Amino acid sequence: MIQKTINIKDLRQLSPGVLVPDLAFPAAGLLSDSLDRPLRDLRISVTDRCNFRCSYCMPSEVFNKDYAFLPQTSLLSFEEIARLARIFIAHGVEKIRLTGGEPLLRKNLEVLIEMLASMTTVAGKPLDITLTTNASLLAKKAQSLKDAGLQRVTVSLDAMDDTIFRHMNDVDFPVADVLHGIEVANKVGLLPIKINMVVKRGTNDQEIVPMARHFRHSGNVLRFIEYMDVGATNGWRMDEVLPSAQVIERINAEFPVAAIDANYLGETAERWRYADGGGEIGVISSVTQAFCSDCNRARLSTEGKLFLCLFASQGHDLRSLLRGDHRAKFSDEQISSAIAHIWHKRDDRYSELRAKLPPDTQIGDGKKRVEMSYIGG
Ligand code: SAM
Ligand code: SF4
Ligand code: SF4
Repeated sequence: MIQKTINIKDLRQLSPGVLVPDLAFPAAGLLSDSLDRPLRDLRISVTDRCNFRCSYCMPSEVFNKDYAFLPQTSLLSFEEIARLARIFIAHGVEKIRLTGGEPLLRKNLEVLIEMLASMTTVAGKPLDITLTTNASLLAKKAQSLKDAGLQRVTVSLDAMDDTIFRHMNDVDFPVADVLHGIEVANKVGLLPIKINMVVKRGTNDQEIVPMARHFRHSGNVLRFIEYMDVGATNGWRMDEVLPSAQVIERINAEFPVAAIDANYLGETAERWRYADGGGEIGVISSVTQAFCSDCNRARLSTEGKLFLCLFASQGHDLRSLLRGDHRAKFSDEQISSAIAHIWHKRDDRYSELRAKLPPDTQIGDGKKRVEMSYIGG
């Protein structure tokens, strides 16, 4: 058997010091970056651990028994997350997505959801709270998540075929259990449910039509995601990316679809509707059609670093401000000003720049990018 060795650098410790400006920058509900993009969407990774080993995200060769996951003391506590969430909301965040790793592995997550569910946006509307999960624990937790105030979930599922799915999650997890999780989530009303399928050419692209067939008329929105070159360990190759245009072609040949308008500016998925009223699907073309110009997303890593782009190699250490690691602890106003300062300077647009280059070109040193399981998808 051929052993695959992937050398990676541990970049989790790398983080520039966060500048707390002398001049206070009071939150006014709108923060624009250097490319005039507002901050609206915050993705919070609540754990870097996962019980799956999807090859495109946490390949088992790297994330094995010797891998050093973050110690418990490094993780932001729920109180710390809630404090930062309040500050981000005052700057205009309207939507929070809990992610990971596998977020349902974080103990008592319902407590955090309750804290977030009590918050409102600057406009006084309820915060849009959602969670992305592999659904392995969803059947067990759906009711308590709903009771805590979670509105909806996104479930990742890459195939209907049990053999292909077990191979892709690399822990022999059966499709039937994910489908049961989705069924329970539907029953308790975690709606609308979105189903994310990462399409890897040559691995699961034959599952596109069976997945479409299964979720048509279910009320759940299936979304096909182009396999992305995130992180430094998945051995990404352009020839394994199936462009979304081809996904749509294959579905259209079986079940005719027509394009529909986006729900809001900055929506990552392009929406399509079955002509026969079978519902809606989406495609997320992160590789072939960059959507950086509307990117209003910030990511908070498990240990409290703020990342401005999925492809960043460094985050801004907000936890040190919360805990006063090197100096005195900072006030909410000071942390708020620091976040404003960071966002004002943001000029990230990795996918847009890469799209202008020949296929297979990566910008910067691909080995320096942090993993998606660490900053959250
Ligand atoms: N464990 C949860 C799950 O799988 O739903 C949440 C975290 S996971 C990192 C979030 C999303 O990122 C999932 O829908 C996953 O399929 C997607 N993802 C991970 N690696 C990816 C890659 N290389 N390309 C595209 N999507 C990816
Ligand atoms: Fe785990 Fe989600 Fe990554 Fe799969 S995609 S390894 S389920 S974090
Ligand atoms: Fe946003 Fe970065 Fe993705 Fe562009 S590449 S859409 S800036 S996360």
